[in-house]
Amino acid sequence: MRWSEHRLAMLQEMGLRVWPIPEPSGAGAGTPEATAIQGQALAKEPPPGAPAAAPAEAVVRTVRPVGVAAMDWTTLRETVAGCSACKLCEGRKQTVFGVGHERAHWMIVGEAPGEQEDQQGEPFVGKSGQLLDNMLRAVGLTRSEAEAQQQVFIANTVKCRPPGNRNPEPAELAQCEPFLMRQIALVQPRIILAMGRFAVQSLLRSTEPIGRLRGRMHRYQGVPLVVTYHPAYLLRNPEDKARAWEDLCLALEVLRAPS
Ligand code: URA
Repeated sequence: MRWSEHRLAMLQEMGLRVWPIPEPSGAGAGTPEATAIQGQALAKEPPPGAPAAAPAEAVVRTVRPVGVAAMDWTTLRETVAGCSACKLCEGRKQTVFGVGHERAHWMIVGEAPGEQEDQQGEPFVGKSGQLLDNMLRAVGLTRSEAEAQQQVFIANTVKCRPPGNRNPEPAELAQCEPFLMRQIALVQPRIILAMGRFAVQSLLRSTEPIGRLRGRMHRYQGVPLVVTYHPAYLLRNPEDKARAWEDLCLALEVLRAPS
């Protein structure tokens, strides 16, 4: 891929300082050898003034919504909004369902709502959301209203904010997974961008570091999937923004390639 002025402008749009990036040697993604990332995405600081430990008797929740796999958008939205299948429902202000075109070509999968997302009911509205928007803009995409080619659909692996922005627990991810699966089935995206390790764990069932999974195409139920860093990780590690840009370019190439 040639780094035309247009592309350099796009890099700047992503907040990237422009530094020399090697030309790929062969066809395809043009990604340098993957770099293993230690302590990658979303190692959040411990919650300040975290609440005291839960009372001794554990609440066993069994209220798992049924029939999710056959739901239409309206029923799915209502079911997510009323879900109390795991303890995350106790601390949420509201669920964060996802936004975007219901038949978007691009589907972006993140981790979990943070404080601002919990307040506003929309994914990625904080600082990492601003970076995500810039990244999307850099490849001609948007979360605002547009045609299905341009307007993405953004969803998280879990729909409720984990308290203190802690990582979602395996049981919480598992409870919420049918919602994400149904969203993907309804959107029928042409490409999925899995951002960060929880998206990767849910969609690829992999615990490999992002650095080992990025740079090539994967598939989720037949849908091409590209792994990239979570925007929150990129805010802490701006030196990896160039790799995230390569991942976006790979996704573009995958999308444009004749199937
Ligand atoms: N990080 C995510 O993964 N999702 C959000 O909605 C916000 C921050």
